[in-house]
Amino acid sequence: MEIKKICVLGAGVMGHGIAQVCAQSGYDVSLRDIEERFVQGGMDRIRKFLDGSVERKKVTREEADAALSRIKGTTDLKEAAKDVDLVIEAIVEDVEIKKDTYKELDTICPAHTIFASNTSYQSITEMAAVTGRPDKFLGMHWFNPPQIMRGIEVIRTGKSSQETIDTIMNLCHKLGKEPGVCKDSPGFIANRLL
Ligand code: NAD
Repeated sequence: MEIKKICVLGAGVMGHGIAQVCAQSGYDVSLRDIEERFVQGGMDRIRKFLDGSVERKKVTREEADAALSRIKGTTDLKEAAKDVDLVIEAIVEDVEIKKDTYKELDTICPAHTIFASNTSYQSITEMAAVTGRPDKFLGMHWFNPPQIMRGIEVIRTGKSSQETIDTIMNLCHKLGKEPGVCKDSPGFIANRLL
């Protein structure tokens, strides 16, 4: 499956950076947080990062502006997720809040939409089980800061389909990242080693 539009949930430390990386690679992105001030906070951080990149001549002004224009910030979950191919969830590390969010998303998103959690320690299998699409559910564990760190752990459960894994591995390569597939186990690879 080809990913065209991505929804990032949570505009905090990880979410704003993930949204920026996706937008800089040409994807349309919706960035959703629960309050307008958090959405704006995330957008401000993206703007600041891109301005710094222009100053350091890493990107042109036009490229930075084009990336920014591809990100739409919102507090409306339905608006953010109703027509996307992929949701990357980077909200608070509370499994009950995450599960409630996935239940709601399951009713909003089209049947083909893939759900990817950036959780550091929660069970991907447990979150996938509250949706009607465990085959399209996996972990996508980025490292901080997402704009700089190249590794991404792609976490498969016993029910993630091979097509879902392949789609996200391809996406990671298009984002200029170095993904590795791992099993759903506490702390996955990097945090477990730490
Ligand atoms: P953060 O607190 O900086 O950001 C979380 C954001 O989610 C906040 O802006 C909050 O308002 C928002 N939020 C809360 N409930 C929400 C909801 N229901 N819908 C949408 N947004 C909601 O946290 P963070 O450090 O960015 O971590 C986010 C996730 O990424 C966590 O699962 C964390 O374990 C994981 N993670 C963090 C790091 C890290 O180094 N910070 C690294 C890898 C993974």
